[in-house]
Amino acid sequence: MKTYKIGLLRGDGIGPEIVDSAVRVLQAVGKKYNIEFTFTPYLIGGAAIDVCGEPLPKATVDGCLASDSVLLGAVGGPKWDNLAGDMRPEKALLGIRAAMGLFTNLRPAKLYPALKDECPLRADIVENGFDIMIVRELTGGIYFGERGYREGKYGQEAYDTEAYSKMEIERIARVAFETARKRGKKLTSIDKANVLETSRLWRKTVHELAAEYPDVEVCDMLVDNAAMQLVRNPSQFDVIVTSNMFGDILSDEASQITGSIGMLPSASLSDNKRGLYEPIHGSAPDIAGKNVANPIATILSAAMMLLYAFDEKDASESIVSAVDKVLSEGYRTADLARGTAAISTVEMTDKIIERL
Ligand code: NAD
Repeated sequence: MKTYKIGLLRGDGIGPEIVDSAVRVLQAVGKKYNIEFTFTPYLIGGAAIDVCGEPLPKATVDGCLASDSVLLGAVGGPKWDNLAGDMRPEKALLGIRAAMGLFTNLRPAKLYPALKDECPLRADIVENGFDIMIVRELTGGIYFGERGYREGKYGQEAYDTEAYSKMEIERIARVAFETARKRGKKLTSIDKANVLETSRLWRKTVHELAAEYPDVEVCDMLVDNAAMQLVRNPSQFDVIVTSNMFGDILSDEASQITGSIGMLPSASLSDNKRGLYEPIHGSAPDIAGKNVANPIATILSAAMMLLYAFDEKDASESIVSAVDKVLSEGYRTADLARGTAAISTVEMTDKIIERL
């Protein structure tokens, strides 16, 4: 029997509820495919601030580095909103990404046929569905650049800076080309090269690398146009590669056209494939503790872990097809129900487990 050690970062808000759902699904799929998982919880975010006085304790970083893979819920909430920048729960996300060297963020945005009616776009636009893989750079750019306050032309001003090295662009672009090669062989590189110097280096580097991937069709798109094209004609996209901030924003937009932000999983990967898997949504404090959150994004994140971290393709596909079945049979959590009868977080998890 294969055994994998999984670090659990439940975090805040709905984090504990949705992570527990994914753990139950992993245990069930493990039984079916003869895989044993051991789960070790570590504190992160507000929960860690409350107990240890800091959002990312060293024990959490050490525990994650010693795990075969890590599953994260979400962090943050109003209780910690007024803390200084370095002490905020969200700081832990950047810290754990940097500590684990997670420079790649894979964010699939796919329209499940059963959710066509939940998609806010016109039926004729999503007639052919869409299946997009957003490859977002995760450890560089403006989220990690120099920042601060200084005296400016109009008095005190705040600033953040975006910097990208050729190396950082090339390594994320390579992941994107490899991903496109295994899918529809079409790569859209999104930047703001008409304004930003970092984007001009981004574009040049992507084009140089394209010579190594003659089988992949590559095109550039400005980020403002991309935001528009995602709602105008999402099926034109196969793989998207973009910077940290553009990827953050565009993937939230892409999530909403799948029906709900509660549907989208993500994988954050380093060179050695040790990864961290998490839903793309936040801690949803407005619905925390009510047993109404949609657990599917976290359950699908666990499916991505099985595929990318452990190469357990059958077990991974079994989860994805169980989710598909549950949705096709009409079961919906409140975020997808649009006023019709909704089932709870625990009931949705039970239904998925029954269909594995
Ligand atoms: P959010 O994603 O938490 O919530 C946005 C809206 O979507 C809310 O109405 C929420 O109820 C709903 N929602 C989100 N996930 C859902 C789910 N699984 N099922 C049903 N509905 C769901 O974003 P926000 O409200 O802007 O942020 C709340 C907190 O989360 C903030 O503290 C923010 O900093 C933090 N945050 C954390 C992460 C992370 O941990 N990766 C990401 C984004 C935001």
